[in-house]
Amino acid sequence: MLINNETKIMGIIGNPVDHSLSPLMHNRTLDRLGLNYVYLPFLVVPGRLGEAVLGLRALNMVGANVTTPYKGAVIEYLDGLSAEARACGAVNLIKNENGKLVGYNTDGKGFMASLEEEEIIHINNALIIGAGGAARSLVYELAISGVSQINILDMERDKASELARFVSKVHRSSATGALMSDDLFSNLSQNADLIVNCTPVGMLPHVDRSPVVSLHKAQHTAVVYDLIYNPFTTAFLSMARARRLKTMNGLSMLVHQGALTLRILTGAEAPIGFMKEVVLNSFKKQ
Ligand code: NAP
Repeated sequence: MLINNETKIMGIIGNPVDHSLSPLMHNRTLDRLGLNYVYLPFLVVPGRLGEAVLGLRALNMVGANVTTPYKGAVIEYLDGLSAEARACGAVNLIKNENGKLVGYNTDGKGFMASLEEEEIIHINNALIIGAGGAARSLVYELAISGVSQINILDMERDKASELARFVSKVHRSSATGALMSDDLFSNLSQNADLIVNCTPVGMLPHVDRSPVVSLHKAQHTAVVYDLIYNPFTTAFLSMARARRLKTMNGLSMLVHQGALTLRILTGAEAPIGFMKEVVLNSFKKQ
């Protein structure tokens, strides 16, 4: 990669950012596409988010991804929002459009693209564990794609029911939101075509943890999805595999949301296979 006076700058802002695979994935891809851009990680400490966002404009950066814990908080510093970002109240990408900072959300679309890639297209009933930022963008996309029943469980009842009310508003999907419990999860899992872990439970270093104790009532045709990609196979996915259910981890979603980021910021079509290989190789080296 040659950096010169023409190099355009993009990056990721969050706290922490040192675990993110986005700098590696994007820099390798930009290089492969022959685009004169660089993608940098920016650790933003609490209280400095506003300055960091204004810095994007001041430094004439093309844009930046936004990660935990700023996906919601960043909105007040932006000049506009895409339809998805406005609807789900979360931004994971800022684009500098000639000095106007516009917020986008590519998480939900990345998730849907990962399902399409596996030809998982007929979902009627989805069971979502967790009602945080990622769950919000994902249920929005599931609802507008026509999933008729969406059930959401969270450690906070109000968060789950608020998200369910939001889903019912954006589309005619029927939605419920309730406090997570083993019994309720088991009951709801009986009718679910898709069960998704949208919590960080099971992520490195707590690899023995799972958001559920059992998947014994899940249908044999159910797809079990974990947004986590580190580790590759979480305790939750191991449980599903033991029952021979179809499983997916968060790698494909990561790559598809990254491809959308590149399309929005540079206009280029990203090579999905190459991006997956870059991420997979980085795991092999760990
Ligand atoms: P978040 O905003 O912190 O949301 C997580 C939610 O899950 C919170 O509401 C939390 O409740 C709830 N929760 C925690 N433990 C639970 C349990 N045992 N049962 C039910 N609910 C529980 O996090 P996020 O940004 O949505 O991210 C969630 C996960 O998705 C993370 O692991 C993240 O790395 C992953 N992710 C992956 C991709 C990808 O491209 N693959 C993209 C985005 C996110 P409390 O607040 O009460 O703890």
